[in-house]
Amino acid sequence: NKLKSLIKDRGLLVDIELEKEEGIGVHKSGCHGFCEAGPLVRIEPDKYLYLKVKEEDCEDIVTHTLINNEPVERLMYKLDGKTYYTQESIPFYAGQKRLVLEHCGHIDAESIEEYMVFDGYKALTKVLTEMTPEEVCREVENANLRGRGGGGFPAGKKWAQVLSYSSDIKYVICNGDEGDPGAFMDRSIMEGDPHSIIEGMTIAAYATRATEGYIYVRAEYPLAIERLNMAIGQARDMGLLGKNILGTDLSFDIHISKGAGAFVCGEGSALIASIEGERGMPRVKAKRTVEEGLWKKPTVLNNVETFANIRYIINNGSNWFKSFGTKNSPGTKAFALTGNVNNTGLIEVPMGTTLRQVIFDIGGGIRDGKKFKAVQIGGPSGGCLTEEYLDMSLDFDSLNEVGAMIGSGGMVVMDEDTCMVEVARFFMGFTQNESCGKCVPCREGTKRMLEILDKIVDGKGSIEDLDMLEELADTITNTSLCGLGKTAAFPVVSSLRYFRDEYLNHVVDKR
Ligand code: SF4
Repeated sequence: NKLKSLIKDRGLLVDIELEKEEGIGVHKSGCHGFCEAGPLVRIEPDKYLYLKVKEEDCEDIVTHTLINNEPVERLMYKLDGKTYYTQESIPFYAGQKRLVLEHCGHIDAESIEEYMVFDGYKALTKVLTEMTPEEVCREVENANLRGRGGGGFPAGKKWAQVLSYSSDIKYVICNGDEGDPGAFMDRSIMEGDPHSIIEGMTIAAYATRATEGYIYVRAEYPLAIERLNMAIGQARDMGLLGKNILGTDLSFDIHISKGAGAFVCGEGSALIASIEGERGMPRVKAKRTVEEGLWKKPTVLNNVETFANIRYIINNGSNWFKSFGTKNSPGTKAFALTGNVNNTGLIEVPMGTTLRQVIFDIGGGIRDGKKFKAVQIGGPSGGCLTEEYLDMSLDFDSLNEVGAMIGSGGMVVMDEDTCMVEVARFFMGFTQNESCGKCVPCREGTKRMLEILDKIVDGKGSIEDLDMLEELADTITNTSLCGLGKTAAFPVVSSLRYFRDEYLNHVVDKR
């Protein structure tokens, strides 16, 4: 009955653990990432993974698996006549390297005890007892952990800069304002493993001598906010946050700041303005955030995934971290794989994995046997990559070289039937709507571009409109104040570059 009610109420995922001493335990857990196949039920210790479980399947799970220790085959993943019994063997998981997502779906996110069973807060204890702040900065710098929020700036360098400024107050901010359409990596970490963020931020506080922290989360993520608040309370109760953490002279506490859902608040200066109680708009910055950030004090600003990596670097060392990924982009990256792909969901792969591996091995290829056309990577600010880039390494530098970017990790796969002009119009509609209006090129330019795209999609555009789109794109990119405006035209520019024929098919040649 407990299993039934969890399936019914949560529609998410349940772990069943065969507890030898006490019998059978049914636990709720966070997201496993395989969205396409949910609701999921995993059986421990056999690691059977049941997919698309319904209430009426619960009887069979109890009778066959729990009582007779036999798998319920019809609930298991099947491909080309083969049945995959364990979670790890399913191709969707087999091609992944799960680090920051390791515990999402495995532990009860509402229990600090479960987090501790899996080395939780061991890294914090290690830095407080064995390392100086300088050594922590150096270790993170040696790991070459690059900011997972999109910019790719080395986190350790940022921390060392904050440490170098003397100030009575310093801040650590975690950017959890994930706003890209189709992206939900940070949400999953906040909901599934909130203590990993708190531990990463507290280590950053020790490394930089910061005293206060903020997690900026969009209000549309109520479960993430609830779990983070719960985790902060538990950490305070156990002396892991607050005054004199674990009896040392480190005093640091974390507050939640709720964003109202403006995409532009993911931009550092707008996010800081929003925490300060101002309207969330980007600012012209005379100095960098590391020197003058929140309330003009030195500030570490990293995103959720970046902080979630810290405990692994401290526990295992920077050399271990560099043992996977590429030379200039070590470690892993979480992506939200969506669109016309068979296995949609949340994945984590070593940097350097190719698009082909992600889309065809992990993603199971294109739906309904159709042909791959393109993938939009990095959200509205990213770019669109075509078939010729399928074997390209997914890392910060390789993507930058071809005019795309990892961004926060949104990946929307499109099949042969997708109209690329409509895709460009969708992204332009999104950025136009999210433009804060502070500067003219972005405020007016995106509006004009959207009007032209509407005209083209309606079959009323002309070839001159394509020239105008390119001219506007150039101006907006070069004259806008913040990243939103600077990258707003990217989806149009890249689709014009690779799919000009599709635009031409829509327009009327008046010349
Ligand atoms: Fe606002 Fe756009 Fe200017 Fe950024 S570029 S400040 S979003 S108007």
